[in-house]
Amino acid sequence: MLVRDLGEEEREEGHVARANRARRECARRVDASLRRCYGDRPWGPRFGGLLDGLVHTILSQNTSDANSHLAFRRLKERFPRWEDAAMAESGGIEEAIRPGGISRVKAARITELLERVRRDFGSYCLAPLAEMEPRAALAYLMDIPGVGRKTAAVLLLFQLGHPLFPVDTHVLRVGKRLGLIPGRAGPAGAHEVMDALVPDDIKYRLHLNMVEHGRKVCRARRPRCGECCLRCLCPSAQGHGGVAGEDAEKR
Ligand code: SF4
Repeated sequence: MLVRDLGEEEREEGHVARANRARRECARRVDASLRRCYGDRPWGPRFGGLLDGLVHTILSQNTSDANSHLAFRRLKERFPRWEDAAMAESGGIEEAIRPGGISRVKAARITELLERVRRDFGSYCLAPLAEMEPRAALAYLMDIPGVGRKTAAVLLLFQLGHPLFPVDTHVLRVGKRLGLIPGRAGPAGAHEVMDALVPDDIKYRLHLNMVEHGRKVCRARRPRCGECCLRCLCPSAQGHGGVAGEDAEKR
């Protein structure tokens, strides 16, 4: 009985390993096709620093890109160094970031963040996160109020090149339709899947290209399967016996 159970376990493990290999291979092929469509996406740090990126993230909540960029620019003009902002008079930050909306709440979050960074690292700089294991840096950022898994992964991938795969709404949808992400996975599970599945050397490029593909072609409603460069790889392609749309995402 025990011998038979072990045999079954081995067969099951072999099946899982083969399925994972096939999905990894599929991720490589998706990357190659999207790269031809949207380009190579060489990596380079996006923000002036990790703390800049984090403040920018706070400012971008519940407002447009244009408003959050303006709020960030005004904040940096008024307080060129983060220590200046930390020592600002009450209302100083709030006034500077007003174009970004809900400025009182955001100002309080920024002040709290600056205090915390100073307490944890002795200065207004998050550079020590570059020395941490990616998972430890992820956990640190996710412990900050208002910072979720996607935001933390974006900051660490875009600013430090840590091998993490951020999953936003576009990646989740496209990944499910392609069969890379299980249909019933939520955002947290999808992050784990994509972190493990996508080779580190293509995480940055594939993330950006999946986001662009989700915006332009594999849209939530009426995906443009007829002109999609992933048609031949996609089990959900309309016109190929697939079921792109909500049904495909629930499988
Ligand atoms: S074939 Fe259709 S469902 Fe599949 S990735 Fe392309 S647009 Fe999306």
